[in-house]
Amino acid sequence: MNAKILETENLTVNFDGFTALKQLNFSMDAGELRVVIGPNGAGKTTFLDVITGKVQPTTGRVIFKGKNLRSLKEHQIARLGIGRKFQTPRIYLNLTPLENLEIASNPKKHSFSTLFKTPSTAEKNSIKGLLETIGLTAKARVKSAFLSHGEKQRLEIGMLLAQSPDLLLVDEPVAGLTDEETYNIGELLLALSQSHSILVIEHDMEFVRQIARKVTVLHEGSVLCEGNIEEVQSDPRVIEVYLGQ
Ligand code: ADP
Repeated sequence: MNAKILETENLTVNFDGFTALKQLNFSMDAGELRVVIGPNGAGKTTFLDVITGKVQPTTGRVIFKGKNLRSLKEHQIARLGIGRKFQTPRIYLNLTPLENLEIASNPKKHSFSTLFKTPSTAEKNSIKGLLETIGLTAKARVKSAFLSHGEKQRLEIGMLLAQSPDLLLVDEPVAGLTDEETYNIGELLLALSQSHSILVIEHDMEFVRQIARKVTVLHEGSVLCEGNIEEVQSDPRVIEVYLGQ
């Protein structure tokens, strides 16, 4: 039996009387690639916000590797090994992918004076490996502003990996991408799932079919159903909530 990497117990989040998450019980094994889908307003973003400490639960618990995350700040949760990729890449557009990865690998370099210090051989090798993983070796020295949208998404995934997270949270990574870029992101996530636990929020069902082993459907702040993609897509409750949009 696999150890659980992430669990929530009766997780509830109220915003000024509106319940965004309602007694949400969720559990994911270490090493799993899980996709969370659900109609607009289902609570998907709030779910990631509460895992990462951006939002505190009203009641209930988030447990990461057996540890209750209650009262921890965002940076403390990140340091425990949860990396989050937002929809819009947060990369330095005026720097190259190589420089972006150097900064991400060593947050202390996050100042202009130390940015151009020569990295150690170990650092260089690890960044070289990351560039290969994300398929950006040929563009390592191109200003990131000139990368395609898909390349920017891959760079940001590389920047997350540079911090060696145990759990990657990935929020709609293919919104606005071409079919080819979407496919490449899917293959990258599948490759990364060999060595990481990954939770992806996604709308694009074609993409979900490419990557998903197990899917969780959220609706009105609770789990509506879970299963493989075929089970979920043919579940009458899922069809009903999506048709109701
Ligand atoms: P999803 O990502 O599935 O579209 P969200 O988590 O963004 O859903 O939102 C769930 C519900 O909570 C929505 O109805 C949204 O309007 C509401 N909500 C989200 N954040 C806040 C907030 N800070 N204050 C009040 N309501 C919020």
